Amino acid sequence: MEKILQVKDLHVSFSTYGGEVNAVRGVSFDLHKGETLAIVGESGCGKSVTSQSIMRLIPSPPGRITGGEVLFQGKDLMKLKEKELRKLRGANISMIFQDPMTALNPTLTIGEQIMEGIIQHDKLSRDQARKVAIEMLNLVGIPSPEQRLKQYPHQFSGGMRQRIVIAMALVCRPEVLIADEPTTALDVTIQAQILELFRDIQKKTGVSIILITHDLGVVAQVADRVAVMYAGKIVELGTRQEIFYQPQHPYTRGLLQSVPRLDMEKEELVPIPGTPPDLFSPPVGCAFSARCPYGMEVCDKAYPFKTHLSSNHQVDCWLQDERAKKSVSTFV
Ligand code: SF4
Repeated sequence: MEKILQVKDLHVSFSTYGGEVNAVRGVSFDLHKGETLAIVGESGCGKSVTSQSIMRLIPSPPGRITGGEVLFQGKDLMKLKEKELRKLRGANISMIFQDPMTALNPTLTIGEQIMEGIIQHDKLSRDQARKVAIEMLNLVGIPSPEQRLKQYPHQFSGGMRQRIVIAMALVCRPEVLIADEPTTALDVTIQAQILELFRDIQKKTGVSIILITHDLGVVAQVADRVAVMYAGKIVELGTRQEIFYQPQHPYTRGLLQSVPRLDMEKEELVPIPGTPPDLFSPPVGCAFSARCPYGMEVCDKAYPFKTHLSSNHQVDCWLQDERAKKSVSTFV
């Protein structure tokens, strides 16, 4: 499959009064054309920082991208000048955030806000931009778009506002859409409609989507592949089927056991004990060790090698490495 975006060994840290927090510690993944890649994990695992760093949107200071490459159309986004990057944002790579209200200006009509992007990027006249804006509102399922273009954000429900934000993100036909918890602020029924909208839009436009979420229910509905993050690293990556039906990392298994499913008894829910480690001074070995029921001596002494279980499925866990069980001294 054609790779549209490649993230290679990304490192991001934040300066705080307490010291340097290593929020993202060597994240690598490819995004394929037309797929949805979900990045999942508990809050604080680095998934949002990763997605914002792709477009160099982390606040700096205190944030700092300390290493890695993000390749898009043969260019490393980490090395682009701010002016070049600004051209790319929205036109080629677009982003949607959790709260639609923060993305919309309450003092401008929806029409003005959608048209602004089109006029800026596509250099169209106001009339042409208006036509495109109407098309976009149609695409995201806003009824009577001609009338609604004249309305302000507060005249729309939460679900409608998120549809408008999606329309704004897609208006310049980007190749990549990064959606950071796009349905978290919405109720379950609206959430299902927005997820359906993502699927529909992807079919119609072929856009590649990176979906950041803590919600495995959302992942199950829309993801083609899933990257599981823990303490700033991707610890398992695979197709949706591989992650849901053959999870190999104890953290992935823990996540799956801690969310309710329809076919599950209440007693089968098992929360993951403990809390993620402090990323001021991340552990040398596996960061999940203190919470892992399968930990071995080697786990605290060295970070596991990446094991490739199939062409898509990879996991960072010593359990997958036969040598770890035989001899700790091989690695430490
Ligand atoms: Fe558990 Fe060790 Fe695997 Fe980490 S490397 S998840 S501690 S078995």
